[in-house]
Amino acid sequence: MMAVLDEKLEPIYQDVLRRNPGETEFHQAVREVLESLGPVLVKHPEFAEHKIIQRICEPERQIIFRVPWEDDSGETHINRAFRVEFNSALGPYKGGMRFHSSVYLGIIKFLGFEQIFKNALTGMPIGGGKGGSDFDPKGRSEAEIMRFCQSLMIELYRHIGEYTDVPAGDIGVGQREIGYLFGQYKRITNRYESGVFTGKGVGWGGSRARTEATGYGTVFFLDEMLKVRGETLEGKTCIVSGSGNVAIFAIEKILELGGKVVACSDSNGVIVDEQGIDLAVLKEIKLVERRRISSYAQRRDSARYRENGVIWDVPCEVALPCATQNELTGRDARKLLANGCIAVAEGANMPTTPEGVRLFLDASIAYGPGKAANAGGVATSALEMQQNASRDSWTFEYTEQRLREIMVGIHRRCHDTAEEYAAPNNYVVGANITGFLKVAHAMVALGLV
Ligand code: GLU
Repeated sequence: MMAVLDEKLEPIYQDVLRRNPGETEFHQAVREVLESLGPVLVKHPEFAEHKIIQRICEPERQIIFRVPWEDDSGETHINRAFRVEFNSALGPYKGGMRFHSSVYLGIIKFLGFEQIFKNALTGMPIGGGKGGSDFDPKGRSEAEIMRFCQSLMIELYRHIGEYTDVPAGDIGVGQREIGYLFGQYKRITNRYESGVFTGKGVGWGGSRARTEATGYGTVFFLDEMLKVRGETLEGKTCIVSGSGNVAIFAIEKILELGGKVVACSDSNGVIVDEQGIDLAVLKEIKLVERRRISSYAQRRDSARYRENGVIWDVPCEVALPCATQNELTGRDARKLLANGCIAVAEGANMPTTPEGVRLFLDASIAYGPGKAANAGGVATSALEMQQNASRDSWTFEYTEQRLREIMVGIHRRCHDTAEEYAAPNNYVVGANITGFLKVAHAMVALGLV
């Protein structure tokens, strides 16, 4: 099922496997990029000469540390936290922190690796990094979450900074957690260094539209892919996996653009609402009450809850995976295609398995891979950094307009690069090559560092 790697790239990939044993998600992310790069090495022999691929696959720095904390009953817990500072050729390391029980080094490295190319694609001056912890926030009190964030920051503060490494949120880390992390950073360093974090609250240095940005951006990218095919979202039946910030604001933008969303999900099950998901109810449950999605069905007669259901079985024309890695398998891709799905845009990072990606590409549907389609989040983080640097604060409308322009630009560059490399409408090739070229040229220019 896997595509063959270029003969120059195969030994590099084998080396990545050998040097990073057991890190399957990282292997997957590397392989997916390398599969696109064969023709680039033919055009640019200087990259092989400078060992750019080998260097790009090796993080510049990896930090692993212990986070001890006490729960509300006084019991001690030990978690492990990570910050992988992957590549700083284009700017300070930039990427979120993920708190989830599944986190281990392989997950953070896959995310950090993807982030390098995604951030390059935005056209903003940001390098790639990622962090997180195997801390599970589910069922934890506010006080426990605050203590955990404070304990983590006692170590992390020395590694980050406006000009070195700028974390943000990801799964399990939203504005609340950023607040606790930033508060502790400020206390330790005695500096109100707004630019050290993004995803802050609007009242304390955050950017308007940052919360909405990843979801909105994914739909802007989707809209551009549809335009190329002479289509629009108007009247289209959509399904959106997940029910976090990315999913909720993707749904909001789909509705604004005239689409209909009939299903969403969380890690326990799926909600199907043939009348269309009621966004106000969903927001109340997820953003205000912080409850599981099953409560949605109790509040809407038209909704059904399927415990352990697979969202991709719900017939649709457009599918947005906005939950987590490898949530959409080959089997799911077949089901979507059989049901007439014409477009997939990834709000999550690497949500489709390699087999699923292959099926979408072979079927020539509009398929927008995460590192292009979900780049709106980190792009708006870079806009937040701009506002912080100039001590300015922009309106929602202006910020959203900038986001939209950035997504249109990413789409255009991916589209055009795919054509240039004889893979028309293949946004995987387009995104990988466009992002790689930007970073690779900078790395050559900066010398052997
Ligand atoms: N975690 C987000 C991503 O996957 C955002 C990162 C950021 O804003 O730095 O791109």
